[in-house]
This record gives sequence, structure tokens and C-alpha cells, in this order.
Amino acid sequence: MLSRLLDPLTSLVYPQECRVCHEIVDSRDDGVACASCWNDTRLLSGNEMLCTRCGAYLGEKAAPISVHCRKCDDHVYEKAIACGIYEKALAASILALKESPRISRRLTTVVEGGLARIHPNADLVIPIPLAKRRQIERGFNQAELIAQLASKFMQIPMDVGSLARKVHTPLHRIGMDQKARELSVKNAFEVVRPKLINGKSVLLVDDVLTSGSTASYCAKALKKSGATSVKVFTLARAVMRY
Ligand SMILES: [Zn+2]
Ligand SMILES: [Zn+2]
Repeated sequence: MLSRLLDPLTSLVYPQECRVCHEIVDSRDDGVACASCWNDTRLLSGNEMLCTRCGAYLGEKAAPISVHCRKCDDHVYEKAIACGIYEKALAASILALKESPRISRRLTTVVEGGLARIHPNADLVIPIPLAKRRQIERGFNQAELIAQLASKFMQIPMDVGSLARKVHTPLHRIGMDQKARELSVKNAFEVVRPKLINGKSVLLVDDVLTSGSTASYCAKALKKSGATSVKVFTLARAVMRY
């Protein structure tokens, strides 16, 4: 304990309390959660039963045939893929990312691991935009931070200017019901530079995918402007109740 307090490299911000279990976080590489909470957080390996389109978590073991949750039948992206389940260390890291634009080494590893597993081919990486007013309040878009990592890792250019939000929508919370969320995001997105989107395959990036409707509205706008395909990549997938 004492040696940890005196460590000149970590004494500025550490020791810090784990935002999940309130024990001490031993390594700053783990960010806001401790190693044991990270170990308890389910990262997806590709061997789970997931909805083929939206990636909804449907069970621990992969099914021999492709499965569909049926809630995403009208979604217009091809596929949504997440690094892990929205829980414990991953959920705490995502909440912290809305407060401060710092990405821990552990979170970087999670993103790179997810991308290495799925190998999404794309011409452009595009973060789901925040409403302008919210981006000014927050100072950054957390989806853009993740998109930046993805762009660097896959060596695919990132485009933050072509897709925009038209109106200021209410805060999207995990607890907000699906109908309210869908109404608030419908027609909220537009492509302001269609020439840059036409003929391109897009990897759309966000922090967490809940129902997938926001991503679907973005995909709709991108496809209207000529995008050939839209895949969605998120840090986490919220587990929905069925
Ligand atoms: Zn912990
Ligand atoms: Zn689905």
C-alpha cells in the first residue's frame, strides 16, 4: 500500500477506487476498474449465441444455425458487432468516457481485440455524431475517441464531417424505453457531404449499442447517400430483456 502511494509514476492519480467494487485499482492501465472486475466482465469471443444482424446476446453458446432476435428485422445496417457486454468494468469505463476523454490501455486492448476478431472491411470509419450542443457542452464525442482507435488500428481513414445530427435530441439513457428513444432519433441524422459517402463501405462506431435503432437511422442516411454497406462497431452491447 505504502509503496503504491509513493510510486512517483502513479501517485498523481492513483491509488484510485474501482468504480465497480470500490477496491483499489492496482494498475493505471486498467483505467477506472480493477483487474478483478475486468476479469468478471464478459468480452465476446465469437462463440456466443448472438443475433446475426444486431448482435443481441441470446445465450452463452453459439447456435449451429444463424439466429435472429426479430427485433432488428427493419434495421438497415448489415451487421452490428460489439467487443463485450455492457456490464461491470466495460460499463464503468464507458460512463467514465463521457466525463473525460481518456482511454486506458485496457480499453485500447479491448477495442483492438474486438477488431482483430471481426476484421471488418470498410473504406471509412465514422463515429455516430453527438448533437452539436451536447458536443460543445462535453467538449468531445466519446464515439469519436473509439473511432479514432479503430481507424488507427485498421488503417482506414476516419470521417467526422460527413454525417451530422440535425436536431438536439434528449439524452439517451440505458433506462429510456425503446419507443421514446426511437422517436427521439428518427430522422435526426443527415449526410452533409454525400460525395464522400457515395460508393463507400462504412464502419459506424459508437460506445454502446442498445436497441440498435440509432445506428440504423445513421445507416439509413448513409445508404441514402450511396453507401454500399454499413457495419456497426461498438465497445459494448447492452443486454436487452426478451
Ligand atoms: Zn473492482
Ligand atoms: Zn437482432
